Amino acid sequence: MRRSVKELLQSKNYQQEVAVKGWVRTFRSNRFIALNDGSTINSIQCVVDFENTDETLLKRINTGAAVSVKGVLAESLGRGQSVEIKVTDLEILGDSNPDEYPIQPKKHSFEFLRENAHLRIRTNTFGAVMRVRSTLSFAVHKYFQENGFNYVNTPIITGSDAEGAGEMFHVTNFEANKAPQTENGEVDYTQDFFGKETNLTVSGQLEAETYAMALGKVYTFGPTFRAENSNTTRHLAEFWMIEPEVAFNDLDANMDLSEDFIKSVISYVLEHCKDDLAFLDQRLTQEEKSKPQAQRSDMSLLEKLQFVVENNFKRVSYTEAIDILRNCKPNKKKKFQYIINEWGADLQSEHERFLVEKHFKCPVILFDYPATIKAFYMRLNEDGKTVRAMDVLFPGIGEIVGGSQREERLDVLQEKMIALGIDEKELWWYLDTRKFGTAVHSGFGLGFERLVQFTTGMGNIRDVIPFPRTPQNAEF
Ligand code: ATP
Ligand code: MN
Repeated sequence: MRRSVKELLQSKNYQQEVAVKGWVRTFRSNRFIALNDGSTINSIQCVVDFENTDETLLKRINTGAAVSVKGVLAESLGRGQSVEIKVTDLEILGDSNPDEYPIQPKKHSFEFLRENAHLRIRTNTFGAVMRVRSTLSFAVHKYFQENGFNYVNTPIITGSDAEGAGEMFHVTNFEANKAPQTENGEVDYTQDFFGKETNLTVSGQLEAETYAMALGKVYTFGPTFRAENSNTTRHLAEFWMIEPEVAFNDLDANMDLSEDFIKSVISYVLEHCKDDLAFLDQRLTQEEKSKPQAQRSDMSLLEKLQFVVENNFKRVSYTEAIDILRNCKPNKKKKFQYIINEWGADLQSEHERFLVEKHFKCPVILFDYPATIKAFYMRLNEDGKTVRAMDVLFPGIGEIVGGSQREERLDVLQEKMIALGIDEKELWWYLDTRKFGTAVHSGFGLGFERLVQFTTGMGNIRDVIPFPRTPQNAEF
């Protein structure tokens, strides 16, 4: 029976006959194959009896080739491994031409690997990142399922353009340039597939709220789209968002949930991805060495993850944060790109990272933001100028979570919509939740890729999703 490399590496059952299939990572001295099958970051050493093996067969053992190996499991004398396979049978399942195969056993730049996203998964780094991503997504479902949440699949094609979370991609069946027009020369969407203008979702929140008002605790975990034309290391045009929504939770309970949730999923990965994280920890430490001293992190990846799990997130009001920022060195010395002068300013990633990395030196939850810089559905505070919003800020990433207590009062919500020019008719179903059995409720959105970035220590969000979608790039 075929066994996985992971299983075999843990086996102490020497002298048994084993069979394994995988891809050649390296082949040294015409003798030692490092074989990997994706079950673990570690490869198993397969020792070929080259004196009794046909030369043409030996020549076909190239990096990237798929092979089937049969042999006897033996204790290994080699460094860093406990077992190896003494090969008795070797079959090449699929050749890999060494002159053409792009993924050679040497260091490739992430840029080069992005152009070969279909093959980069065959490297140690991407194997580790994607196994961690998979484990993290399991941990997300596990956390919610064990805590009484229902998984809700909100629509990917949305008919409401009032969500206001970001620029949207249009969904249409019209052929470009052939869209029928109304008498006023505008596109006549009544003739389109859905009979109205539709877009790809930027958030499942509004729909999730309606479900929270019946199921109590719900969460979404699905693809989300934003046509933001920003080329940053933290933005994708297509990403995965996790959005819990809980009836009867106020903002404090919402902050507690976000903190408990993040700590729980990171703990899970620390426990279940030890080999991958150890590798990523080493990788990051190497990468840090190439940076100037001042920019280096004083914690390794594993230390950072442990730190997040073990320490309380610092909760700070927006007003306090503005005071800190206004009086901090980089602001006074005009080192920030955006100088903070007044209360009411929107915080940029540089400010968020200053608060987290330099000032508090721990994850921070900012709350009670000015109403003017936040979405219409956030609950207005008694002061009449701030809303019950919260952002969770992480080192190296900035905003990882954005959430709020929702405005549950129909009249206040309607006033806000009128002030912002949001058509009530568009969101009649949303307003119904405030008409029939309205209640305090809260939720947040967490960008899954930003969580994967933090957990794996990868600097660019394009390297934590299999096939990134960004401006000018939809290859694969
Ligand atoms: P940012 O200011 O960083 O662009 P945002 O304020 O637009 O984020 P929200 O609308 O609050 O973000 O979305 C909730 C979460 O979704 C964010 O905290 C972030 O983790 C994630 N997110 C938002 N936009 C993107 C994107 N383009 N790519 C990846 N993740 C994103
Ligand atoms: Mn944004």
